[in-house]
This record gives sequence, C-alpha cells and structure tokens, in this order.
Amino acid sequence: MDGMGRRTLLTGAVSLALGGCATTETTLRAVPVSTASQAYPDSPKSAFDRLMTGNRRWVTGALQHPDRDPTRRELLAAKQQPYGVVLACIDSRVPPELVFDTGLGDLFVMRTGGQAVGPVVTGSVEYGPMTGGTPLIVVLGHQRCGAIEAAYKALKDAKPLPGNLQAIVEALRPAYEQTVNEGSADPIETMAKTQVKLTADALRGNRDLAPLVNGKKLAVVSAFYSLDTGEVEVLNGAPS
Ligand SMILES: [Zn+2]
Repeated sequence: MDGMGRRTLLTGAVSLALGGCATTETTLRAVPVSTASQAYPDSPKSAFDRLMTGNRRWVTGALQHPDRDPTRRELLAAKQQPYGVVLACIDSRVPPELVFDTGLGDLFVMRTGGQAVGPVVTGSVEYGPMTGGTPLIVVLGHQRCGAIEAAYKALKDAKPLPGNLQAIVEALRPAYEQTVNEGSADPIETMAKTQVKLTADALRGNRDLAPLVNGKKLAVVSAFYSLDTGEVEVLNGAPS
C-alpha cells in the first residue's frame, strides 16, 4: 500500500474513534489481518494514531481484536515487525494489548512494578527502535498504582521494603523526590505521572534514542491510564 492508501486507512480509523460510525468500522474490519503488514504504521504519528484509535475502541467497547488468528500467527512465524513499544506496570488491570486493542506481533511490551526501569529494561525498550525501526515508544502509568503507592510510603517513612522490592523503590526515587519538591494534593497520582514523564524524558534524550527522536523516526510518549474509564491520557511527547 502506498503512503496515500495508508493515510486513507488511518483517516478511517480516526473517524471511527471520533464518530463510532458502523460503516467505517466495517471498512476497517475488511482489511485482512493476514496482510496487516501492508498498512504498517511506519511513522511515529501513524503508530500513535493506531494505538489511540485502539484505545477508543477499548473505551467504547467497539473492539476489533485485530491480528489474533492462525493466519496472522503463520505470517509472523519467521519475522516480526511491531509498530510500537509499550512500557507499562505489572498491574493486572493494565495489559497494553487489551487497552490498545492490538494483536499478535503489534507491540513489544515491557512491564515492571510502577514501570520502573534499569539497564535491562531500558535495553529491552530500545531494542525495537534501534534494530527494527519501531517508530513509537509509550511509557504508560496508571491510576491507583500499588507500586507507586508502596514506593511513596517506603520513601516517605524511610522504611525499606523487603528483598528485591526495594530495588523498585529506589528506581522510583527520582519521581518521589520531584513530587515532594513540587508539592501535590494527590501525591500518589502526581508521583505516578511524574514517573512516566521522567522515564519518557530520559528515553527521549538518551544517547542511542535521541538521534532517532531528533530525526523524527521515533516518538516517545508518556501517558496515563484511567482504571475508571479505560482511557489513555497523553501527558507529553505526542507526535504531530
Ligand atoms: Zn501499577
């Protein structure tokens, strides 16, 4: 599919999200998942639009469950080309493939407590953009995050958590300190949002990813998921 064809498809997807038009949904469904690679979102903006359109379907219940059939599995058996990377929390209520209504081979997904990072996690996030041209990274925090709350209390009370849990606390310390310095009526939610923004900022500016970001080949978006509504709110970094 040429660039124009791809834009037309995505425009239809956006229309679906905004208008809930059944006709447009039918059109979108007609794209065979077995050839989904023809519509591969190869720019940060098109990948971002694909994910946000999927999130609208999750919010409204108009799910498509794309790319989840045996044909898709066979198509991907030899090679994958995900169009997005999502770094999210381990929370059982925030599985990226569901909240963005994606399927097999669509996303690289990393999940850690409070989406805390260290070298291994960061390397895993970088893998797609650095080796395969994946055009989008989303760092996704969420409402009422238990990991953030536990880290906030551990740091506030100076009571380390047992064992390896304390490693998560230490990884979240910069977000805690910024939250305390700035002050907040709802420090847990503020710390959760600060954590994703700091993480996205660090990825965007790191030595290996910054050239891709500056060349408009990669966008790093920070976002926040509402457990109440299912909606993903963009905090910063949305590609234009
Ligand atoms: Zn969480």
